[in-house]
Amino acid sequence: MKINGKTKVLGLIGCPIEHTMSPFIHNLLANKMNINIIYLPFHVEKGNLKPAMLGAKALNLLGTNITVPYKVEALELVDFLDDRAKLIEAINTVKYFNNKIYGYNTDADGFLLSCIKAGITFQNKKICILGAGGASKAISLICAEKKAKKLIIANRTIDKANLLKNTIQKNFNIEVDAIGYNELKSFSNIDICIQTTSIGMHPNYNDSIINENDFFKNLEWAIDLIYNPKETKFLKLAKEKGINTLNGFGMLFFQAVKAFEIWNDVIIPESIIEECYQLFSDYIY
Ligand code: NAP
Repeated sequence: MKINGKTKVLGLIGCPIEHTMSPFIHNLLANKMNINIIYLPFHVEKGNLKPAMLGAKALNLLGTNITVPYKVEALELVDFLDDRAKLIEAINTVKYFNNKIYGYNTDADGFLLSCIKAGITFQNKKICILGAGGASKAISLICAEKKAKKLIIANRTIDKANLLKNTIQKNFNIEVDAIGYNELKSFSNIDICIQTTSIGMHPNYNDSIINENDFFKNLEWAIDLIYNPKETKFLKLAKEKGINTLNGFGMLFFQAVKAFEIWNDVIIPESIIEECYQLFSDYIY
C-alpha cells in the first residue's frame, strides 16, 4: 500500500504496546481489502489518554484501538457508546467521525466469532469462567446473552466475581454462582470451562489456575483466552483428558476484523477472512 495524501491513519493506544500484533493484522486486512489506510502503535503514558484521544480526533484519525490499561478510562472520553460497550463498561475500539468520538467493544464479538468458527455453542450449557477481570466480563455477558443455562464465575478476589454476577443478573435472567477457586471441586457436569485470567501467559508456561487434569473429565470444551503460548498448561491438561480445546488466537483475530469493519464501514468477504486468519496464524506461530 502506497502512503499518499489520501491515506487515513489508524492506531493502537496503550501502555505498553511494544508487543502488539495489531499493526500486522490491520495492515494485512487493509492490503487485502485494497483500502488506503495505515495502522500504527501509539505508546501513551499514564495521564495522557485524554490529550491522546482528543489529539487523534483533531488530527482526523479514522480510529484507534484502546488497550491495557485504558479500556475503562476511555469510556469517559467518548461522545457515543454502542450497546455492547455500555454493557461491558469498557471499550477497545474508537472511531473519530464528524468531530465526535464513538466507542465500541469488539472483544465479545471476537470471542463469539472464534467460538462459532470452532463449532462451540452456549445455549443451555453449564459454563465455568475462571477469572473476573475485563475479559471475563465480556465473555460472561456473551454467554448469558447466548442463553447459557448457568454460569459459575470463579476468581481469586471473590468480591469481583460477585460484582460481575450482579451485573449479569441485572441484564439477563440466568443462574450465576460467584465462588473462589477452592470451591470449584463441588461443581459437576460442567460443559464448557473458559480460562480468562492472565495465569499461564508467556513466559509463565508452567502456571495454571487448574492443576489436575481430573477437573476436565466430562467437559465438552476447554477455552483459554491466552494466545501466547499457543497451548497453555490449562489447555495441555485438558487435551490429556481428550477434551476439545480452543486458545485466544481466534478472539484476537476476530476482534480486529470487527474493528476494521466498523472503521471502514465494510463487511470483509469470507474468503479474505480465511486467508488473513491463516496468514496471521503463520505470523504469530
Ligand atoms: P484483568 O482485567 O487485569 O483481569 C485479570 C484476571 O486475572 C483477574 O481475574 C485476576 O484475578 C486474575 N489474576 C491475575 N493474577 C492472578 C494471580 N496471580 N492469581 C490468580 N488470579 C490472577 O485482565 P483482562 O483484560 O481480563 O485479561 C485477562 C487475560 O485475557 C490476559 O491473559 C489477556 O491476554 C487475555 N485476553 C485475551 C484477549 C484475546 O483477544 N485473545 C482479549 C482480552 C484479554 P483478581 O481479580 O483476583 O485480581
